[in-house]
Amino acid sequence: MQDLLDAVPEDRTVVCVPTHECLILHDDEEEIGRIPLDGVIDVSLLDESSVHRRPTLSRFLFLGPLAFFFPKKTVHEAYRLCIQWKAPGGGYRLTRIRVPRRLLAEQMLRTVKRSLNPESRREMARKIARDRVRAALPPQGRPPAPAVASPFIACGNCTVEFRKTDLPPGGRCPVCGRRFPGA
Ligand SMILES: [Zn+2]
Repeated sequence: MQDLLDAVPEDRTVVCVPTHECLILHDDEEEIGRIPLDGVIDVSLLDESSVHRRPTLSRFLFLGPLAFFFPKKTVHEAYRLCIQWKAPGGGYRLTRIRVPRRLLAEQMLRTVKRSLNPESRREMARKIARDRVRAALPPQGRPPAPAVASPFIACGNCTVEFRKTDLPPGGRCPVCGRRFPGA
């Protein structure tokens, strides 16, 4: 899986979409792999940003020799979301996902941490169980669907459930690529 992640072109961003049982890594075109939530040991963010300093001509004209003391600073933002996990068959893995921007990297870290939260997982599992019960009842015996907008969305094609706020922009299912209705 790491080879696949490393092979994703620089201009494409890998997203990490949680379901109630795994994290789905997706490069906006296809699924790269899955990490079972039960196996996750640690999640962290690595800052690989680098700062380049160089005196530029315009600064030299403006500041003279002082340009060498106040070089132009360019920051190249680069982050990695590191997920340490245990594979179902045994063996520890370290998955590193390249994230170009700090805000996105922090958001991904929050999303993954929340998906690991036991209460958050229970909430999603309860929702799925409720839906199964509803679907098993004859239509006239079904309790009315909750009036409040659900934070979850289920793919009509592959039936995997996601938290709406976790989905990447584009309105497509990260598992099967089918467009969500209304997206
Ligand atoms: Zn789907």
